[in-house]
Amino acid sequence: MRIRHWLRRPRQLLVVFLAVACVSAGALGWLGWQLLTQDAALEVQRRQEALAAAADRAIATLQRSIAEQQTRAIGEPGPGAALASGVSAITIRGETLTVTPPGSLLFYPEASRARATMSEAFVAGERLEFSASDLAGAAREYSRIARSPDMNARAGALARLARVQRKQQDTDAALSTYDELARIESASVDGMPAPLLARVGRASVFESTGRAAQLRAEADILRRDLRDGRWRLVKAEYEFYAKQANEWLGTSTPSDADAMARSEAARWLWDNRGSLASIPRRAVVLPAGPALAAWQSTAAGVDGIVAGPSYLTGLCAKAVPAHLRCALTDVEGHTLTGGAPPTRMVAVRVASASGLPWTLHVFAPDGVAATPSPRRPLLIGTFAIVALVLVAGWYFILRAMSREMRLARFQSDFVAAVSHEFRSPLTSLSHIAEMLAQDRFPSDEMRRKSFAILVRDSDRLRRLVEGLLDFGRFEAGAAMLRLEPLDITALVETTVADFRERVASDGYTVDFTGPGGAAFTRGDREALTRALWNLLDNAVKYSPDCRMVWVEMTRGPDEVRITVRDQGLGIPLHEQREIFDRFVRGADSTARRIKGTGIGLAMVRDIVRAHGGEIQLWSEPGRGSRFTVVLHTAGGAA
Ligand code: ADP
Repeated sequence: MRIRHWLRRPRQLLVVFLAVACVSAGALGWLGWQLLTQDAALEVQRRQEALAAAADRAIATLQRSIAEQQTRAIGEPGPGAALASGVSAITIRGETLTVTPPGSLLFYPEASRARATMSEAFVAGERLEFSASDLAGAAREYSRIARSPDMNARAGALARLARVQRKQQDTDAALSTYDELARIESASVDGMPAPLLARVGRASVFESTGRAAQLRAEADILRRDLRDGRWRLVKAEYEFYAKQANEWLGTSTPSDADAMARSEAARWLWDNRGSLASIPRRAVVLPAGPALAAWQSTAAGVDGIVAGPSYLTGLCAKAVPAHLRCALTDVEGHTLTGGAPPTRMVAVRVASASGLPWTLHVFAPDGVAATPSPRRPLLIGTFAIVALVLVAGWYFILRAMSREMRLARFQSDFVAAVSHEFRSPLTSLSHIAEMLAQDRFPSDEMRRKSFAILVRDSDRLRRLVEGLLDFGRFEAGAAMLRLEPLDITALVETTVADFRERVASDGYTVDFTGPGGAAFTRGDREALTRALWNLLDNAVKYSPDCRMVWVEMTRGPDEVRITVRDQGLGIPLHEQREIFDRFVRGADSTARRIKGTGIGLAMVRDIVRAHGGEIQLWSEPGRGSRFTVVLHTAGGAA
């Protein structure tokens, strides 16, 4: 029932409006969502394209950098001029491998080093030393050979002499012999570099005699020399001595990964030197770590470069802009440098396409990849504004509609009320007229009473019509007012007197207190009388129990205040604003079936406002009401 009532026009209109509002909101939301998703997709595509472009640039940079190093490795003013750090130039000519900068490899391919054959010269000494156990004799023999002009023979003899001296417990002599041996820099003993043997020998002496500090110092130098690639050792030798040095030092410092990888790469070049021309491009050497080997194989031999992980990392970082990352992986997918590449938002260039020995991955670090598009806030902001405007629009339309609907309801109530107001006096008038026509009055008394009713009802009708006409006039606008200087005190006194006379028959009294004397204002006499009359009429109408109303007039320096007070029904607070609107009637008045049309106070307010004044209301249900009209005076008090 309620819903059906609600759906009646103009509610129907409201439903249509709500439906349209919902559809438009839905459409806007959908559109917004679509735009945001499209924008996100666009952004992904844009980033992907940027990554692809960066990857292509990176390939060019990598190719160029490697080629540049290769050119420098074989170019003028000599191999190795201005090579990047971490890069070694390798030259293989016949059975010789040369490295630039010298010492930049930890170890060398086996066959690249000439091995000295065991000298026959020491046979006699060794026989004395081992078979005859004649240490003194052996020492003499070795000392003799140590004076030989042949460097290698000298070195071999000194190494053996030191051994004998150690057996003789003559450690000081052994140490000085090792010192002497160390000074024969370029000599070798059974293929081993003399200084290395001297260093190791000294360390062993310190170890056996418990001289810890000296042992540590010696082992430290040994390890440094090994790291600096001071001697051309093969891998096994290098590893043996490096391990020995670590043991003496009591630490296990890992070898320099970069130099290790370079050395492995050089070994790989050496091992494959025969077939390098047929291998199409640079290769990565594992498992010593990621390394690069780039070469040029000619009839003369092989010229190439080798580099370790730090060079690769630097190369990779240099190849992409600072906000991007670069990673290199080998064919099997092992990461060589740059960390594990992501699976999304990455540009991948495989080795076969790039001509590089690795698969290149270019990607944005996590944070950057996740950043939304820069247009997103703008889009969201625009949508928020559009939504706000839409909601505000709906709000105002709804408000206007509900006002209009209320007005429409009040108007129909008004029409019903006016018809009702007309109907009762008209009924009694026509009834009396009918009796008059048929002369059916039983007595003169009755006739007199009927005439009195005739006068009262026709007066009521006249006032009703006048009221409606006045309402129409004031509705049309204040321009219709005829403003003239008038004495407001006199106007109030006259109106109160007239009203008093009218309501006296119903037993109402009107009490008037005023300041006396004239107070002038510019006003429309008729309109102001109508306003005051309406207030008085209401005061009487809404005071069913108290038959007295009060009119008080006070004067300020430039205003008069006319208050109409009653002790009637009073007006609840929530109605006090809207009863001044057209056609609005209090709930209590309608419930009590008090006659009225709801235009009286609207007229009062319009008239007072048109005179530049204001109307104030104080009221409390059950205690009565006080309406005060404030008008400005022209200062013409007498
Ligand atoms: P009407 O009196 O014809 O209903 P008005 O515009 O004069 O219309 O008044 C509007 C409403 O204000 C009334 O319906 C009534 O509820 C309330 N009202 C006006 N004057 C008084 C009063 N003196 N005491 C109580 N209620 C009043």
